[in-house]
Amino acid sequence: MPLFDLLVKGWPFILLITVSYGLMCLIWPFKACRVCKGSGRITSRLGRGIRLCPPCEASGLRLRAGRKAWNSLNRLYRANRRNRRS
Ligand SMILES: [Zn+2]
Repeated sequence: MPLFDLLVKGWPFILLITVSYGLMCLIWPFKACRVCKGSGRITSRLGRGIRLCPPCEASGLRLRAGRKAWNSLNRLYRANRRNRRS
């Protein structure tokens, strides 16, 4: 079974990728917005006039998917803890 073999022999590699992605999300939680390519502005379809980019709210930055997941997990954890105390 090649897939099983890959998992057995390649798990340090997979772990490395996961850890480095996690670190990347910690150090650089933002990446350039796909819509405006980091500029925060988009030109209208006719090529005249500049609008602020709605998806990133003109900041030009988007949260990484990993960071978004981390944030939502954190929020869930905090809500859980709060409920337990009361
Ligand atoms: Zn944008």
